[in-house]
Amino acid sequence: VTATLHTNIGELLTNDPAVGAGVGRLHHAALVVSDGLVQWVGPADRAPAADERVDHGGRAVLPGFVDAHTHLVFAGERSDEFEARMAGEPYDGGGITRTVAQTRAASLDELSQRSHRRAAALRAGGVTTVEIKSGYDLTPEGEARLLQIAGGLTTETTFLGAHTIPEDYRHRREDFVAQVVGPMLDACAPYAKWIDVFCDRGAFDVDEARTVLAAGNARGLRSRLHGNQLGATGGVQLAASVGAASVDHCTHVSDEDLEALAAAGVVATLLPSAEFFTQAPMPDVRRFHDAGVTVALATDCNPGTSFVTSMGFVLALAVAHGHFSVDDALWSATAGGAAALQRSDIGRLAVGARADFVVADAPRAAHLVYHQGPDAIAAVYSSS
Ligand SMILES: [Zn+2]
Repeated sequence: VTATLHTNIGELLTNDPAVGAGVGRLHHAALVVSDGLVQWVGPADRAPAADERVDHGGRAVLPGFVDAHTHLVFAGERSDEFEARMAGEPYDGGGITRTVAQTRAASLDELSQRSHRRAAALRAGGVTTVEIKSGYDLTPEGEARLLQIAGGLTTETTFLGAHTIPEDYRHRREDFVAQVVGPMLDACAPYAKWIDVFCDRGAFDVDEARTVLAAGNARGLRSRLHGNQLGATGGVQLAASVGAASVDHCTHVSDEDLEALAAAGVVATLLPSAEFFTQAPMPDVRRFHDAGVTVALATDCNPGTSFVTSMGFVLALAVAHGHFSVDDALWSATAGGAAALQRSDIGRLAVGARADFVVADAPRAAHLVYHQGPDAIAAVYSSS
């Protein structure tokens, strides 16, 4: 096994509380990596010898981004809806059925290639772990096909059969819920780690969402949830009551909602680019922090409300419009995302963690928030 010394790191964010509060910042630092794991972290002038040496020239290093919320397996695009929305039409989630039709019609090859391209773009922007949901086919075989493609890109696969009510079930929604928890779950459970529901106005109500999550749990899938994006519709309280790993969006939350999340230890995954592209109010992260809620940031990459394959863009929005400090945004996109996926091996750079990290092309990690473009990043390392 070869040990590699990564040295001359101008600023190292470890997210290790033993190093320091918040991002656990070290200056003039080094890392030793072997077998895909971090073996040593500390000041460069005290680094142990290693077989190979990489000099980072004073650049900043931070944990790879963990994008804990994407829908990146789909066909087609909906720029026409974006254009109409910007001209004043409200978003109600109805456009999902258009992507369902385009995705059903796409070949396996096309879907697979497009998904790989999006995942590669995320990675070039520093994402080393991505969560991917199904939800754009809504038939048993079709949802399983999407999850198999997702499984080629990540172990963090999520069955989202309860994404929207398809056109042909519009007047018999209870039949569709039965379909999701029956044949669709049967076909998808082998390919999914998580179960998710779009619990919101115009989508699934709290009782329907509870039924879907319970069915998934019974098949060994763990819960995560879309909640309170379009209104205060009870999704956040449901996430707290079932002990979901994360509730995502949280655009409309009360103080009671935040207390419930903190008490239940449920992560709030904020998706500022979805708010940006739907011109919705962006949640103020200070309320979440004051309540003691752990916050993650993710891209929500999807063709309707956030066709975003850049975590840097999400970070910039969080800081410019969500009241995040730069350090808090970087923490939420790394350690926060890891918490949302209940992973302790990623999102931090400490002994034993996976050696997944980003090298900024500048001495400060804040560079990745204010410099938008692929040239902000010098290199991305990951153990897989
Ligand atoms: Zn989503």
